[in-house]
Amino acid sequence: MPATMMDGTALAARVRGQVADEVAALGIPIGLATVLVGDDPASAIYVRRKQEACVEAGIEPFHRELPGSTSQEQLLALVAELNADERVTGILVQVPLPDQIDEAEVIRAINPIKDVDGFHPTNAGHMLQGNPTLLPATPAGIMELLAKYNVQLKGSRAVVVGRSNNVGKPTALLLLAQHATVVLCHSRTPDLGAVVRQADVVVAAVGRPEAVTAAMIRPGAVVVDVGITRTDDGLVGDVARDAREVAGLLTPVPGGVGPMTIAALLRNTVRAARYQHGMLAFPGG
Ligand code: NAP
Repeated sequence: MPATMMDGTALAARVRGQVADEVAALGIPIGLATVLVGDDPASAIYVRRKQEACVEAGIEPFHRELPGSTSQEQLLALVAELNADERVTGILVQVPLPDQIDEAEVIRAINPIKDVDGFHPTNAGHMLQGNPTLLPATPAGIMELLAKYNVQLKGSRAVVVGRSNNVGKPTALLLLAQHATVVLCHSRTPDLGAVVRQADVVVAAVGRPEAVTAAMIRPGAVVVDVGITRTDDGLVGDVARDAREVAGLLTPVPGGVGPMTIAALLRNTVRAARYQHGMLAFPGG
């Protein structure tokens, strides 16, 4: 029986509606600053979608674009300016950044209470210790999608393929927090297929089409495809197309994790504003 597709577009639309209602009810100024450095077309599209979602939810957009030749000092100066701007309650610096920029230093420069991407070590540390504050948007969106489809995580075997700080590692931690037994795979994992075949839940975050093939999937497994690769045939994920003949639940690409990432970003943006308006306590002040 072909897999049931997990409809991220539909769930994200519902979440965005909820966020819009929440923003209207809260009645506090909420502003999201997006920073785009350089002219990477994919990054420009992602940032525009985030801004559009913001406007639709009643969040004020502040967009800044810097040339690809921007220096570390110039970018840090912009982050400092946005940290100090009270109208800006959330800051998102779109990654990847040009080679001359030290990405980790830029992320560390963002005030953790405005870090709506959840990449700052303070927020990553709270997540590690099981005390979530602002969670990385893609992993948070994945978890919301799994919850929506009533995926039983407690006691399950979960395999995450990819160990990036933004996607793979935090997704593994969030699955662990839900009592899954988690294996985290990467480019040096021997016999990836044998490991993935053990999984009740597979999350593929590699960035290589067909990194996960149908033969690697246990029949009936839940498969989350995070990958986005642009090809002549459009966007493709990390999971081979014929996996839908084997999986029980599967996210489409596009229309699965991508929309949920934006929805989770909006949730974070509201949460960050609540922290700044004293409506929620940020751990450690
Ligand atoms: P990344 O930083 O490039 O990380 C890729 C990971 O895959 C690395 O940990 C790498 O291992 C691992 N890997 C590479 N080749 C492998 C192989 N043959 N077998 C097993 N593991 C392998 O990428 P990312 O930022 O996590 O993103 C992953 C994908 O998700 C990309 O396609 C990206 O565009 C997409 N993405 C989508 C969304 C969304 O909203 N849908 C959001 C973020 C990212 P090593 O660590 O050993 O190098």
